[in-house]
Amino acid sequence: MQFRTLARIDLSALAHNISVIAKLAPQSQLMAVVKANAYGHGLASVTPVLTAALAAADAAGVATLEEATTLRANGWQGRLMLLQGFANAQELDAAIELETEVVVHQHAQLELLAARADSFKQRVWVKLETGMNRLGFPADQLNAILQQLQQYTLGLMTHFAAADETDNPSVLAQISRFEAAVSEIDLPKTLANSAATINYPQAHADMVRCGLMLFGVSPLAQGCGADLGLRPVMRFSSRLLAVKKCQAGDLIGYNGTYSCPENMPIGVVAIGYGDGYPYLVSNRTGDKPAMLMLKGVKCPVVGRVSMDMLAIDLRPLETLGVQAEQGEEVILWGPELPVENLARSIGSIPYELLCGLTGRVNYQYHEDGAS
Ligand SMILES: *Cc1c(COP(=O)(O)O)cnc(C)c1O
Repeated sequence: MQFRTLARIDLSALAHNISVIAKLAPQSQLMAVVKANAYGHGLASVTPVLTAALAAADAAGVATLEEATTLRANGWQGRLMLLQGFANAQELDAAIELETEVVVHQHAQLELLAARADSFKQRVWVKLETGMNRLGFPADQLNAILQQLQQYTLGLMTHFAAADETDNPSVLAQISRFEAAVSEIDLPKTLANSAATINYPQAHADMVRCGLMLFGVSPLAQGCGADLGLRPVMRFSSRLLAVKKCQAGDLIGYNGTYSCPENMPIGVVAIGYGDGYPYLVSNRTGDKPAMLMLKGVKCPVVGRVSMDMLAIDLRPLETLGVQAEQGEEVILWGPELPVENLARSIGSIPYELLCGLTGRVNYQYHEDGAS
C-alpha cells in the first residue's frame, strides 16, 4: 500500500545522535528526553533504540505519567525521570508504581512525599528557580527543603531560559545563581537541555537532558542539525494528488489568495493542517516561501494551506525539464529539507512542528541508515 502522509523514522540516526551528544559532553550522563511522543517520532518505537544506546546509568525523561507508562510498557527498565513531577497523591502513587524519579518544585509536593515516605524509593530532584520563572524553589529555601527530604536519594536541577543563544548574560547569570546555591552540596546536578549542551559546556554537570538534539534537529537560532554533526531522524513526506496546468490570473485555493503570474503548472499535495503541516505556511510567496521538495527540487507552497491539501508552484521542476506526476513523493521536511528552516520562516520552532504531527500520519521505522 502506498501511504498518503508518511513519517519515516531512521532509528540509526537516533543512535548516531546519541553518540554525538556523548562526545559533546563526555563527562556527563545523558538523559534522553522523549516527552510529547518522542517529539512526534513515536515514543513506543524509539524505546528499543534508547534501551540499546543508553548505558545502564543513563536515563530517559518524560513530562507526563502517560508517557512514563508507554515507556515502561515498551520495555524501558532504566532510570526514568518525570520532569513535571506529580500534582497529587494519585499521581505520586502512579510514579511509585512506575518507579520514576520525580522533580519537586513546590511545597505541596513535599507534603505528598512525606505521606509516602515508606514507599517512594527513587531519586527526588529538587528544582531550583534561577531566572526562568517557570518552575522551581527559590535558592534561599534550598537548605530547609533538603533537610525535609533527607531520607530520599536526592539530586539538584535547574532549567535555562535562553541557552539557544551563545554567551547570553541571562544564562551566565542562571549558572552563577545555581552554582552559588549548590556548590557546597555533594549531590548529582543537572542543568543543560540540548541548547546548553552545545553552547554552555560549563553547565554540563553530572547529566545533560537532551530532547530535540536526539532527533537530529538543532535547538539554536541559526543553522540546522547537520551543522552540528547530527542526522535528522524524521523524514516527513506526502504525495502529489494532482498536477494542473493553470492560466495567468487563475486563483489558487481558499479565498484565491494566490494569483498565477503566468501560465504555469500547479501541484496539489496531500498534506494539510489536519496532518500537522502548519497553516502559517500559507501565502508566504512574497518574502520567504515555504519549500517542499519533489525529485530533489525545491518548489514553493502557494496560496493557503487547507486541512487535507495544499498547492505548490511546479515551475522550478518545469524549468529543469523534469516531469512531476500524480503519486510522486513530496518531502515536507527531513535531512534534505531541514525542519528548522520551515519553522523559522513562519515564526515557529522546530519543536512545535515535530510535536504537531497528528494521528492521521503513518509511521515507518527503519534502521538502514539510508537517508
Ligand atoms: C523538554 C525538557 C528538556 C529537553 O529540552 P530540549 O531543548 O529538547 O533538549 C530538558 N529539561 C527539561 C526540564 C525539559 O522540560
